[in-house]
Amino acid sequence: MSLRVAVIGAGPAGIYASDLLIRNEELDISVDLFEQMPAPFGLIRYGVAPDHPRIKGIVTSLHNVLDKPHLRLLGNIEVGKDVTIEELRDYYDAIVISTGAVRDRDLLIPGGDKSIGAGEFVGFYDGNPRFERDWDLSAREVAVIGVGNVALDVSRILAKTGDELLVTEIPDNVYNSLKDNKAEVVHMFGRRGPAQAKFTPKELRELDLSDTIQVLVDPEDIDYDQLSEELRRADKSIDLNCQVLEQYAMREPDDAPHKIHIHFFEEPVEVLTEGDAIVGVRTERQELDGEGGIRGTGKFTDWPVQAVYHAIGYRSEPVIGVPFDHDRNVIPNDGGHVLNEEGIENSLYVTGWIKRGPVGLIGNTKSDAKETTGMLFEDAAAGKLHAPKYPDPDAIIALLQERGIAYTTWDGWYRLDAEERRLGETSDLLPRERRKIVEWEEMVAHARAVPQVP
Ligand code: NAP
Repeated sequence: MSLRVAVIGAGPAGIYASDLLIRNEELDISVDLFEQMPAPFGLIRYGVAPDHPRIKGIVTSLHNVLDKPHLRLLGNIEVGKDVTIEELRDYYDAIVISTGAVRDRDLLIPGGDKSIGAGEFVGFYDGNPRFERDWDLSAREVAVIGVGNVALDVSRILAKTGDELLVTEIPDNVYNSLKDNKAEVVHMFGRRGPAQAKFTPKELRELDLSDTIQVLVDPEDIDYDQLSEELRRADKSIDLNCQVLEQYAMREPDDAPHKIHIHFFEEPVEVLTEGDAIVGVRTERQELDGEGGIRGTGKFTDWPVQAVYHAIGYRSEPVIGVPFDHDRNVIPNDGGHVLNEEGIENSLYVTGWIKRGPVGLIGNTKSDAKETTGMLFEDAAAGKLHAPKYPDPDAIIALLQERGIAYTTWDGWYRLDAEERRLGETSDLLPRERRKIVEWEEMVAHARAVPQVP
């Protein structure tokens, strides 16, 4: 049996699923990996902070997958618009959706619409062409709402100098905004306690690695109820987080020019504004309710800040033509199959954050992919997959060409990659390994450039 599968979204989730599909020894599967951006790697390229080369290094293993035969990258294609899911059914035996979670959850407090979603800032500093080219970093005091890893990334980038980040792959426009960053104090707010923080310990420790940053915690915020103590005993990561936070709480302020204060038991209840300007954030002191939740104490504090960011989680966007659960912001599924109101959607699968929500580290999507592809393999063996009208791999290319879609390929990524490396090495500001290209058309032009024959 020979099968053709379309995987939608070339981030870690889609690439792990593609890898499992093409490695299946009983079924002869070839995969077309569709991606809306002109370049692959999704969250690794456009979500991981530039000063996290260790995590960016995952790209090497993803690259090796994309190098394999039976896997074809088709980038710069928006599924739902350029080609619909319904149309793809004519070309593939099965479709796997892995479009991730790229939008910010809304901050639903008075003035919350004035707060900037962390994802917007991440999109800017990671050079995602869909986001702003310049960033206003004139605020001296900044609030970051949430105590997860994205809050750490945003706070760390806000507290670093542009020059510290120049060694990374940041594009020139990002450097030009960051070098004028005026932030001196970043207040990070968690509504529950240290044992309930969502950080991972390694990332929490890395917050403090810059010479220009000092991380501080108010000793009064180090508090554990019985359940918190049990959590510490049961989960090494939680205990390590608490230990690191306790060390931060024992410090006296030093002369580091940038301070990050991590506050616990402070729930932001209002973003304070005067006209269009942000002048502060109001929090209400919380106490643990003994069951992992919190209750307000009625004690309010106003923190003078001139910018507020919220890092309170991402959410997925619906894919046109596919059922969507608007309460949970995921595609309804049974662990792999997409579900509609009647039951299983034939030959349609889902994996990654759009399947289970935006939680877990990148490696967790591997087990997701295993579960989803396992279901697909069972369906294939049971003859349950629908037969496509046009199984010839050239047929979808003919459709894209007929529509004038400037799709990019894996060869194209090699060309774009070479150009970004050349730009890095020849940078006037500082020669380095890579400098990202931000402009969409420029990325497409490099990816689609016809190689010159000497
Ligand atoms: P997250 O881990 O779910 O953290 C969200 C934070 O926002 C929590 O502290 C949560 O507090 C808080 N929050 C939610 N709603 C709130 C509200 N209305 N008011 C105040 N606080 C609120 O989400 P994330 O930071 O976006 O991270 C997403 C995933 O990506 C995580 O699995 C993370 O580990 C991963 N990631 C990893 C890295 C890395 O470097 N390894 C970097 C970035 C992201 P409660 O717990 O009280 O709800």
